[in-house]
Amino acid sequence: MRVTTTNILRKKFSSNLGSIYEPREAGKIASIVIEHLFGIPGTSQLLHKEINISTEQELTINKIFNRLLKHEPIQYVLGYTEFYGHQFQTDARALIPRPETEELVHYMLTLGVSHNSRILDIGTGTGCIGITLALEAGCKVFAVDVDTDALALARENAASLGAEIEFIQADMLTTQLNISSLDIIVSNPPYVPEPSKASMDTRVIDFEPPQALFVSEQNPLIFYQRIANLAAEYLAPGGQVFLEIFHLSGPAVMSLFQGPQWSQVLIKKDLQGKDRMVKAVLKSSD
Ligand code: GLN
Repeated sequence: MRVTTTNILRKKFSSNLGSIYEPREAGKIASIVIEHLFGIPGTSQLLHKEINISTEQELTINKIFNRLLKHEPIQYVLGYTEFYGHQFQTDARALIPRPETEELVHYMLTLGVSHNSRILDIGTGTGCIGITLALEAGCKVFAVDVDTDALALARENAASLGAEIEFIQADMLTTQLNISSLDIIVSNPPYVPEPSKASMDTRVIDFEPPQALFVSEQNPLIFYQRIANLAAEYLAPGGQVFLEIFHLSGPAVMSLFQGPQWSQVLIKKDLQGKDRMVKAVLKSSD
């Protein structure tokens, strides 16, 4: 048994992580690890709260740091992350939920998703978008993914969070679903053009599933193009499309919704000031 204080431990953890993380990020991860191990929230850790570290905890700490120092993301090391106030299980089966995607969900909720809304979430991954909408607004959600492993993870998340979701395994690029009269289609599809890989963090490229991230340089809008086509079929008149997008693809994605059946097409920026979402509304037929 070793006795120390939260403040000292946080400094020690931050400095260990300093070799691969920026100081701010190192501090944030140190805080998450301490909360995970001792249940002490970040704000209280800055005080000199006394903690006893058991031999077993020492071993756990070593295991966690071995993985973190190999650049594995904290969300995979601990096996969970927070998304919109809910705890989602996270592992290499699916992309780690991002703050930008929380922004997308928040945007949808502020516009008034109701318990009557029927929603299709394309490329659900961990299930974070669909599950959060079901939990927050009680809507009826269909969640699709091509990857059976990702879908298994999403099912586990729905079960542990108590969300009722209809999961469907399908490749949306080639499959027609027997679905209609939807109120909303939402998607955070793969959108990073393959060449951008070169400038991306090892944490992302070595650990997260590439099929959830990358699209070819030749056809970077493949998923958006398909969604635009399907949306006109699956949505009820007045139905909405919400998409997370690559920050340089705003105008290109918008242009897919320029046909006469679409209205109110807009780009919304994320908190970093980057183009991050596109919304479009299918016109009523009258
Ligand atoms: N926002 C993610 C990233 O930049 C990508 C998500 C996606 O491709 N849908 O790492």
